[in-house]
Amino acid sequence: MLLIILPGCSGPVQSQSEFVLGTVCAVSLYDHGSPKIYRKIFDRLREIENLMSANVEDSDLGRINRASGIEAVEVHPDTLLVLKRAVHFAELSGGAFDPSVGPLVKLWNIGSGDDRVPGEEEIAAVLPLINWKDIVIDEDAVTVFLRQPGMRLDLGAIAKGYAADEAAGIVRAAGIKRALIDLGGNILVYGTKRDGSSWRVGIQNPVESRGAYFGIAEVQNMPPGSGVLPGSKTMVTSGVYERFFEFGGKRYHHILSTRSGRPVDNGLLSVTVISGSSIDADALSTALFALGYEKGSTLAESLDAMEAIFVFADLSVRGTSGAFGYFNLTDGDFTVIP
Ligand code: ADP
Ligand code: MG
Repeated sequence: MLLIILPGCSGPVQSQSEFVLGTVCAVSLYDHGSPKIYRKIFDRLREIENLMSANVEDSDLGRINRASGIEAVEVHPDTLLVLKRAVHFAELSGGAFDPSVGPLVKLWNIGSGDDRVPGEEEIAAVLPLINWKDIVIDEDAVTVFLRQPGMRLDLGAIAKGYAADEAAGIVRAAGIKRALIDLGGNILVYGTKRDGSSWRVGIQNPVESRGAYFGIAEVQNMPPGSGVLPGSKTMVTSGVYERFFEFGGKRYHHILSTRSGRPVDNGLLSVTVISGSSIDADALSTALFALGYEKGSTLAESLDAMEAIFVFADLSVRGTSGAFGYFNLTDGDFTVIP
């Protein structure tokens, strides 16, 4: 799950880590980082978790899920915003990415320590509940209704990206010039380094232990994209190594196919998205992974101001047309296929 920040000449002046959003989140503020700003950022991350985690009973998601098939639930505008973005990517990906994947996530329980391979009948029973078209969003009333009883939203594939964008917004509002935000592998760099050089971010080697990287992204000069906080660049990876369990010699990872109801099995080990918007990069890294290379790269090419890097089980690496302008392979075990 980690991306690795390569040390440059200007090391972090200050840094703080907390466990929130189901992972270790680290924030490094360069220039004028005060305990007050760190507190503000981590409080915001916690607020997002308390609204959008499916595992927090009183979260907006918890309340929406409990009212599935019964009634519309009023939610915080932030929850509505993230859900709308999630539905947008569900539509773009033809449902390969789907925030109503909750019943399947719960069934597999991957990463909970209580995971097991569910039976065919159990999977077949929950598949009809997964359909983003049954999510009814009323923007005027600020409510969400799940049409079928038993439906369950899960924003695990997008909420951390939103949280990274929000953290960057706080950094900017505080007048801090540069910062590095690492939400369990969702990396966002803000501003430019003091010496003007590019941020260099190592991208996790999907077959090695944490901390090993197979290439480096330098994203300073990426076009910003519309609606994106100026000065933000983000790199988000989804992969088979992030959360998984093994059973009978087989690995079961946490990105689930909304068609088969099983972990996506398409020859990919990971997908990294680099862009200006972390909410989009987070959703897209999961969506492209779920779509697979053929459909995923077609979708990625159709979108502006983002690039994607696909890593396959044979350690070959493919990218969108502009990807290798920002990404350099450093590990000789991998091969770039142009
Ligand atoms: P991570 O959260 O580890 O960084 P991802 O962003 O790829 O990784 O999100 C994976 C999470 O998204 C899963 O743990 C699950 O909660 C949820 N999820 C799994 N499959 C799908 C899917 N097909 N569409 C949307 N969300 C999914
Ligand atoms: Mg994601």
